Amino acid sequence: MSARVLAGPPVAAALLADAAARASRLPAQPNLVIVSVGDDPASLSYVRGKSRKAGEVGLRNTVHALAETTTQAELLTLIDTLNRDDDVNGILVQLPLPAQIAEAAVLHAIDPRKDVDGFHPLNVGELWAGRPALTPCTPAGIMFLLEHHGVPVAGARAVIVGRSHLVGRPLAALLLNADATVTVAHSRTRDLGSVTREADILVAAAGTPGLITPDMVKPGATVIDVGINRVLKPDGKGHLVGDVHPDVAGVAGALTPVPGGVGPMTVAQLLANTVRAAELQHAARADLEAAGEFVR
Ligand code: NAD
Repeated sequence: MSARVLAGPPVAAALLADAAARASRLPAQPNLVIVSVGDDPASLSYVRGKSRKAGEVGLRNTVHALAETTTQAELLTLIDTLNRDDDVNGILVQLPLPAQIAEAAVLHAIDPRKDVDGFHPLNVGELWAGRPALTPCTPAGIMFLLEHHGVPVAGARAVIVGRSHLVGRPLAALLLNADATVTVAHSRTRDLGSVTREADILVAAAGTPGLITPDMVKPGATVIDVGINRVLKPDGKGHLVGDVHPDVAGVAGALTPVPGGVGPMTVAQLLANTVRAAELQHAARADLEAAGEFVR
């Protein structure tokens, strides 16, 4: 048996097409502002990828690439300006930030209505309360991928390996909101295999190459590999591998590849979130105008 491949790119294209169609119904193309601080090559490459994809689907976007020495006060001033600018619909601050800047202070400062990464505590709280919110991109992209490939979630046993704020925790909330029975495992979990073998849907988001081996997977399970790990192969070249051992394909019913699985969903979901933010801001302004309130 070889697992069905849950490819990301066609699903990301479907999500982007839907976002572009919704964007075209708004009075102006949604506008995303991406802020990066410092010269970390990986961060700068992610920022370029996000900006390029935004342009491809017709979203307006601007990148503020700030110097490594930028102070927290300077960054907060920029965020305040962007918060007040009605022409800016989405604000993304690329993480990680240099040591002199407290990540929490920055994430708290972004207007929750423009928080397209879904990291503001208000959005985190709404997500866990089961109410609509701007939701972190990788987990939201995974939900779209499962839905698109017809993987049943309601009633399923879902196990997530990894409890980060970026992936594991918000995905647990989304799966719970979609009526799965959810377990979150992590680096202190005892006998990880006995937990993962329970899963109808197993999500590996640990950042450990090959962590999930065939004996840890229930036959026929859907396995979502979030891991992106750069490893040196015997040919001396760097390769991207996931957290799931390749032999899992012989046991799982369906499996996302790395690369080409969850990765493309993340950027697509960021742009979908930007359109969503613009729609909500537009609707809020229309409500105020209808109520006779002055709107700038
Ligand atoms: P993180 O380091 O913040 O969190 C890793 C989590 O995995 C922690 O909760 C830790 O407890 C758990 N963990 C680590 N080793 C473990 C082990 N041996 N057994 C059980 N649990 C273990 O990482 P993150 O930001 O959540 O990212 C996880 C992986 O997903 C990384 O490889 C990252 O590159 C990748 N990632 C991919 C995308 C994408 O778009 N595909 C997006 C975000 C992250």
